[in-house]
Amino acid sequence: METTKAHVLNCQFSSWYPKFKKLTPRARILKPIPPSVLNYLNQDGIFLGGSDDDENEDDGEIKDEDDENVQRARVSAEDLKLITDTIEELGGSVVPKLNWSTPKDALWIAPTNSLKCTNASDILLLLKASDFVAHDLDDPFDNCKDDVVGKLTENFSYELVLKEWFPIHTSHEYRCFVKGRKLVAVSQRDPNYYDFLEKEAPEHLELLIELSEKLHDFPDENFVFDAYIQKDRAFLIDINPYSLTTDGQLFSWSEINKLNTDDPVLRLVPKGPFGSSGSMYSENRVPFDMVAANLGGNISEFANSMQQSMAAEEK
Ligand code: ATP
Ligand code: MG
Repeated sequence: METTKAHVLNCQFSSWYPKFKKLTPRARILKPIPPSVLNYLNQDGIFLGGSDDDENEDDGEIKDEDDENVQRARVSAEDLKLITDTIEELGGSVVPKLNWSTPKDALWIAPTNSLKCTNASDILLLLKASDFVAHDLDDPFDNCKDDVVGKLTENFSYELVLKEWFPIHTSHEYRCFVKGRKLVAVSQRDPNYYDFLEKEAPEHLELLIELSEKLHDFPDENFVFDAYIQKDRAFLIDINPYSLTTDGQLFSWSEINKLNTDDPVLRLVPKGPFGSSGSMYSENRVPFDMVAANLGGNISEFANSMQQSMAAEEK
């Protein structure tokens, strides 16, 4: 299961969108990414006001002496206008993305707590605060085993994708695994249990099989696509590499690799304790009770205090 640069490049939004335009919501691709946006994203640190407009304003930030000498890259008025006009063209609200990733790990910084952006500053702030976007910029081929340098990446350029925003019911999102051009596995994406899905899922699966058959033009025979079911239609949302870097969701990659079937396996989050309602991208957060029980000692003291607090609760 070796990932190649060619495969990663085939999964860029601009590589597949023109082919599958009819199967996916409207979008615009600014390629290459406007240069002042790229400079802004590449500089260290987050600061408000990526635009020229507020150059002379005091943004209320605490500054040290060095700040005075730092030339901050501003997004040019021309590039801001391009983004603003594109948002308008798409109906006034968009989801931003670079070649592969949306800034979905940076929702905490968004005033709406969502990927929905209605102006250029929303977009710049989200992109700037996202590690996923930073990975697109810094090291998109880090998992590729091939050493093909040059040729394949010669024509490479970063892109800013703006997708028309629409209200999504996350219960109707699926991740679909295609192996040898056959759909072999389908996983619910939302980590919560929904009772209505058990009834709807067989029909959803039919729609997803139909969609997978329309993706035969994709250059690789193994890939992973994300889809959204709205009424009686499956929309293509994204294509990801068939690679460990793509989350297998309710499947492990070793399971997916072993699957060889004409009947795709569909998995939903089960009812009961296995269904998760935890927030996403919070691997590093620790349950509040555990933090509260820890009075700042070493691991064994921590374990003792946890046991004591659990015993106290059982009484
Ligand atoms: P992943 O890592 O899961 O592949 P990604 O960074 O490639 O994500 P997308 O798959 O394009 O990003 O979108 C991420 C999520 O954002 C989707 O699962 C969906 O919930 C939401 N989303 C994507 N496009 C839109 C849209 N046009 N309107 C509203 N929400 C959207
Ligand atoms: Mg993706």
